[in-house]
Amino acid sequence: MQEQQTLAVLQDKTDDTFYKDLFYAGTEQEYRAAITAAGESVSSFLQNNKKPFSGITPAALLAQFNTIDFDTPLPDYESLLEEVNTLYIKHATAFHLPQYIAHLNCPVVIPALAAEVIISAINSSQDTYDQSAGGTFMERKLIDWTGAQIGFDTACDGVFTGGGSQSNMMGLLLARDYYALEFLGHNIKMDGCPAEASRFRIFVSDKAHFSNQKNASLLGLGEQAIIKIDTDNRFRMNAVKLEAAIKKELELGNIPIAIVATAGTTDFGNMDPLQEIGRLAGKYKLWFHIDAAYGCGLLLSDKYRYLLNGIELADSVTVDYHKSFFQPISSSAFLVKNKLHLNLIKHHADYLNPKEQDYDELPAQINKSVTQSTRRFDALKLWFTLRLMGKQQLGAYTDTIIETAEKAACMIEEDGAFKLLSHSDLGVLVFRYYPADMTANPCEVNQYIKKALFFSGEILLASTKVNQAFYLKFTILNPLTTIDDIRHILTAIKECGKDYVKDL
Ligand SMILES: *Cc1c(COP(=O)(O)O)cnc(C)c1O
Repeated sequence: MQEQQTLAVLQDKTDDTFYKDLFYAGTEQEYRAAITAAGESVSSFLQNNKKPFSGITPAALLAQFNTIDFDTPLPDYESLLEEVNTLYIKHATAFHLPQYIAHLNCPVVIPALAAEVIISAINSSQDTYDQSAGGTFMERKLIDWTGAQIGFDTACDGVFTGGGSQSNMMGLLLARDYYALEFLGHNIKMDGCPAEASRFRIFVSDKAHFSNQKNASLLGLGEQAIIKIDTDNRFRMNAVKLEAAIKKELELGNIPIAIVATAGTTDFGNMDPLQEIGRLAGKYKLWFHIDAAYGCGLLLSDKYRYLLNGIELADSVTVDYHKSFFQPISSSAFLVKNKLHLNLIKHHADYLNPKEQDYDELPAQINKSVTQSTRRFDALKLWFTLRLMGKQQLGAYTDTIIETAEKAACMIEEDGAFKLLSHSDLGVLVFRYYPADMTANPCEVNQYIKKALFFSGEILLASTKVNQAFYLKFTILNPLTTIDDIRHILTAIKECGKDYVKDL
């Protein structure tokens, strides 16, 4: 009986179809057919999805998942792609349409998509040279290029990460470990947090990204370590209040270790005063991290690059190419001004990057990565993009977006039906529908507008709260978006608002 079973398996393996799904020289035809079919699904997404969202409710969508049985594989790609189309592509959010104006999702450029084909098939892992070879040097060259755009010299270094939250975490990790080693003679990597760590304090603006709180908590400092500084009328960190807060914490016996400035806030797209904050970081000997997850796009623009002046003062910087460089998710990087600081986190694994290894002979990016070992070659997407389009073309897209956003801001401001909270250095506008004669609760009206437009699928807006009040939010990241698109969106918002008020 047992012999017969073994034989059956052996016979199976000699069958031509047994290995047909493995990627190797013998399946090149299958590979091409599958990629072509997948590409056609993408084409039909572009042709068929004319609204940013289908409007389907979670309940209706979930119901379709009940029939899926993983124990019964589908017969071919045709049925597979049909299923994926029904469950996913048909309802997927279309970031490339101007009517998608919600979150920080940029439309992507084609060279990066072509790179994706290579990235996943060749499947290099960026942790060590023996798993990536040229990939390691391409990543390093892009890091050096980004460092040079920031204004860092050749002492800079960095690593691609999965996103801005992860890059920000590296910034706070280095800040924490650097402070402890330099000023307390304490090695956190080896010995854990010292007692003083409960008094470590990190200064951010009250519009900084929430990942700072999460990261402080993950780093064992607690959210209590985060001191939020009030912002000015354009929602930028107030440097005078920052200095007062640093002094106050010192008086309380706490230990300021770092300032995180935001270059491009998620809610307003404005820049904290980087030069003033950098000066304070120098004066009080604090680690200076700049979260340029969003604002890094200004590095591409000759016209608006000046808005980032002072970024070169940072000890470390977060850049999200998947926010502002038209790259598909994921593509982000963490940079440090002085590469020696990365030694604070270096760990030697005997099987990957042993201590005795000569890193000139065998470089290893894993020395710079905290939360990833096996790591995608995302850098190739940016390589394709910059080599084919150049910084100039990307910069022209960025300029167009900024100019559209400014025109949109003026349009909202001049329209009596709306109230705009602030102009933006980049492309985020926070406002609400609020005609002078409206008696309805403005928070309720605007909540209704957002939800109604979402489930119509016609327009996807974001929202945020400012002083507990609900506001609508535009994030303009698409160079294709015209001022006519904006006008159309604003008209739809007004109509929706009027409907709500009428039905009360
Ligand atoms: C989006 C964003 C982040 C987080 O980046 P992810 O790539 O989403 O992890 C951090 N900071 C700012 C200012 C952001 O806008």
